Amino acid sequence: MSDEADDPVETAQTRLARLVLVLRSQGVTDPAVLSAIEKTPRDLFTPDLFRDRAWEDSALPIACGQTISQPFIVGLMTQALTLEPRARVLEIGTGSGYQTAILSRLARLVYTVERYRTLMGEAEKRFATLGLTNVITRFGDGGDGWVEQAPFDRILVTAASSEEPDRLLKQLKPSGVLVAPVGKGPVQRLVRYAGDGKGEFTKEQLGEVRFVPMLDGVAKEL
Ligand code: SAH
Repeated sequence: MSDEADDPVETAQTRLARLVLVLRSQGVTDPAVLSAIEKTPRDLFTPDLFRDRAWEDSALPIACGQTISQPFIVGLMTQALTLEPRARVLEIGTGSGYQTAILSRLARLVYTVERYRTLMGEAEKRFATLGLTNVITRFGDGGDGWVEQAPFDRILVTAASSEEPDRLLKQLKPSGVLVAPVGKGPVQRLVRYAGDGKGEFTKEQLGEVRFVPMLDGVAKEL
């Protein structure tokens, strides 16, 4: 009798392949994005308690009362960014670092900001484990963006803000793209802002999402 549990490597690969199929059937069709997801072991980013659920297409709890995003949403947002290999990307809300790791495989440099020191530290260890050398981390309030490194080709916000991301749009190149969940309450709109090269941005709605809120300042607790 062959038992999948006897071969954890095979099991993880099979589960990952199944997850990729699910994402493709839901509209994440960009081969580069799917390949990045396929190369990123999500179980490295989930807490021990939820490790056996790492390959499910669902958001899961992580430390500090935050969440690791649902793989479909990670795929959708990454695809919406239309990344080019030379891109410098700013990400707000590192969390587990899962989305960061996906971005790092598709862009030249990823700058990521997190307001919990604990989450930042854990994510940094994971980037080292995976040998991701193009991720630059910062413990701070992502609402401020990262002025010293602006302007960015792409900006991805993974915490929900009730206001339009006007401050972050100022740190985007004129032809850049910013993707963010916008809205109050548990359900928000996922919005894609695309620059026309002359200082104007067109807005496209990508559907409803559920993100934890973007909060002001850094967390006082660890
Ligand atoms: N992309 C993450 C999802 C993390 S959830 C992942 O794949 O795991 C959103 C994260 O945004 C949380 O970790 C939260 O602490 C962080 N966050 C919320 N407000 C923030 C702010 N103002 N600056 C930086 N990070 C913030």
